[in-house]
Amino acid sequence: MPALIIDGSAISKSILAEIKAEVAAIKAEKNEVPGLVTILVGSNSASVSYVTLKVKTALDMGYKEVQENLAADVSEADLLAMVDRYNKDPSIHGILVQLPLPRHIDEKKVIYAIDPDKDVDGFHPVNIGRLLLGGDEAKFPPCTPAGIQELILRSGVRISGAEVVVVGRSNIVGKPIANMLLQKGPGANATVTVVHTGTVDLAGHCRRADILIVAAGVPGLVKPEWIKPGACVIDVGVNRVGEKISEKTGKTVAILRGDVDFDAAKEIAGSITPVPGGVGPMTIAMLMKNTLSSFKMHAS
Ligand code: NAD
Repeated sequence: MPALIIDGSAISKSILAEIKAEVAAIKAEKNEVPGLVTILVGSNSASVSYVTLKVKTALDMGYKEVQENLAADVSEADLLAMVDRYNKDPSIHGILVQLPLPRHIDEKKVIYAIDPDKDVDGFHPVNIGRLLLGGDEAKFPPCTPAGIQELILRSGVRISGAEVVVVGRSNIVGKPIANMLLQKGPGANATVTVVHTGTVDLAGHCRRADILIVAAGVPGLVKPEWIKPGACVIDVGVNRVGEKISEKTGKTVAILRGDVDFDAAKEIAGSITPVPGGVGPMTIAMLMKNTLSSFKMHAS
């Protein structure tokens, strides 16, 4: 039987609708709303389109949204001063600095300068530490891993007791999702293996997985015969493999492929995310969720 296709776009829409309704209720009761600042340095086209979508979504949620567009040659000191200003601004609950930053700016220094209690991207080492401790300590799970966990849960796949294999050990996807799923508690409690470029038998590990999460950035890395029949497959990979003319707009657009051979894998897996339309749309929903959590945290 072909797999259930996990529709990240639809799930993301329903999460955003829940957030929007909650924000409207808060506004009606307290006349306050969550505040998010998005800081963009330069005009890298991918960064511009990510930030534009974040701004549009935040406004749609009813948030106070401040967009800061800084020139590509802004000094590190000026950027740090801006971050500090928003750290102290009580109407702002989330600070997002769009990465990557130009080479003359130390990215680590900027991430470390964000108040961990406003770090809605969840990249600050304090938040990585909180994530590792788990339970009530975890404040802002990084958005892509949080989206992955939510997709699995909302697809009705049991995580507790499952064998989870994560392909990739990056700081933004592989390491955090592995840590989130091994915690004792709801939506986790799995047995987690992380495989990477140093792993000897990649296929053997993948074949054991009840839940296979692939974040390697290698198109078609995971072959259908690596998938356990009935497994839940979450393909995080977004790889540009060519270009095509969009039928809708007539413009040239990228052809995107995941890390899993989707067409063959869907005949074996129990459930699977497509690329695009799987993990991608969830990231922004989780950013909005973290901003709302931050608002509530500051309010209490
Ligand atoms: P990364 O390059 O930082 O890390 C990739 C990891 O995969 C590394 O740990 C590496 O060891 C492992 N890896 C690479 N090739 C491998 C191989 N042949 N065998 C085993 N392991 C291998 O990448 P990342 O930032 O974690 O992103 C991974 C993919 O996910 C990319 O395609 C990226 O575009 C995508 N991504 C998507 C979203 C989203 O949809 N919102 C967010 C983040 C990343």
